[in-house]
Amino acid sequence: MREHDKETVVVIGAGLAGLTAAATAARARRPVVVVEAHTAGGRARTDELSGYRFNQGPHALGRGGEAWRILHDLGVPHRGHRPPVRGARVVRGGKLAGVPTGQLASLIPRLLTVSAASWAGRSAEEWVESLGGSRDLPDLARMLIRVTTYVTDLGRMPAGFAIARLKAARRGVSYLDEGFASLVEGLSSAASAAGATIRTHQAAAGINAVPGGWEVELAGGEVLPAAAVVIAAGSPAAARKLLPVDPGWPELGPPVTAACLDLGLRGPHPSVVIGVDEPLYLACHCPPGALAPAGGSVVHVMRYGAGDEGLDRAELHRFATLAGITSDQIAAERFLAAHVVTHVLPGPEDGLAGRPAVAVPQAPGVYLAGDWVGPSGWLSDAAMASGQHAAMLAAGAPAEDRTHPRMA
Ligand SMILES: Cc1cc2nc3c(=O)[nH]c(=O)nc-3n(C[C@H](O)[C@H](O)[C@H](O)COP(=O)(O)OP(=O)(O)OC[C@H]3O[C@@H](n4cnc5c(N)ncnc54)[C@H](O)[C@@H]3O)c2cc1C
Repeated sequence: MREHDKETVVVIGAGLAGLTAAATAARARRPVVVVEAHTAGGRARTDELSGYRFNQGPHALGRGGEAWRILHDLGVPHRGHRPPVRGARVVRGGKLAGVPTGQLASLIPRLLTVSAASWAGRSAEEWVESLGGSRDLPDLARMLIRVTTYVTDLGRMPAGFAIARLKAARRGVSYLDEGFASLVEGLSSAASAAGATIRTHQAAAGINAVPGGWEVELAGGEVLPAAAVVIAAGSPAAARKLLPVDPGWPELGPPVTAACLDLGLRGPHPSVVIGVDEPLYLACHCPPGALAPAGGSVVHVMRYGAGDEGLDRAELHRFATLAGITSDQIAAERFLAAHVVTHVLPGPEDGLAGRPAVAVPQAPGVYLAGDWVGPSGWLSDAAMASGQHAAMLAAGAPAEDRTHPRMA
């Protein structure tokens, strides 16, 4: 290895996790090369259709969470707006209704004062069932948990995690002007300004141990020497393909999926319509976010937990119609079938602590990052928290100290 290569951190994947890792390691004065199979952004991409900017389904940045803090640390600016609640409605028994403010006023304090520790090891469904009363309260609790986690299968979800998410949701969320692409652009600029090189349309094919470090093999045959490697390729399956060793993970848990209908509208638009007894969501993200041509709006319709593609598409169109959207208003639309919101829903026994750790003990100098990695955060918060942690470890230890199990 050349002297320079002893320092280089190679990051695989330029989603939020990889870009956070790249900016963090570059700011720690390590040479950084990012390789990305497609264009930068991953699931945080924002695509433009006929002047309407669509995130990959509805995306909101949690205020004051891990991602918010890391963006601040890295000096990445973002501008957004709190979701409008005026005109919000729910759907119950297939019919539009006003928000049940009285029931929510009695339920929410109960949800927010419960201790997560007292429900350790049990499922969110057990907790919700314990609320008692008529069917209405558990249904409303399930709706709130869906909106704050994207999870529909509460039987497989740790109660403590649901409680923590509901408490964190009090800080609110931000609909970002220009969409999540503004974070991708900001993180890419922060990484580049600190000296990182981002190479798009270059997939990594594998990682091999060499004396004093690692080599990252690209699909085209090129080999990149590295002192440390951060795998931020989006999913456990993608990481497993790249890892130089068997990580020995147990069953990690199922993915959390959604079917999304992204709509660009002209004319009037509904604000928020949420299903109480069915896992459906509709919200206008612009206005307030800047995502549409003048006078237009962007509305995201979603089914939590994707099913059959054709049925989901028809159901989302029906829900949009029920919310008052007419077909002549639709100027642009995109359907995303079975989109993976996050690849791992950890089980009730372990909670988030059951996700794989950032460090790979069998491969010192190789680290994992992504929204399925590490004990903190959910979705973008987890992606960026693990990206930052991986980069700090990768930038920390000198390469010479590492011994590879395969080479010992
Ligand atoms: C419908 C939906 C709604 C969501 N809503 C929210 C929300 O409201 N709030 C929130 O915080 N989060 C939300 N999320 C989740 C958020 O988008 C993700 O948590 C986050 O973008 C994941 O980032 P990542 O970097 O871990 O993975 P990814 O974004 O998947 O990035 C992985 C990258 O690695 C690249 N890659 C893969 N293999 C290779 C290889 N071999 N070589 C090189 N590159 C490779 C991929 O091309 C990709 O760019 C939502 C997601 C969905 C789908």
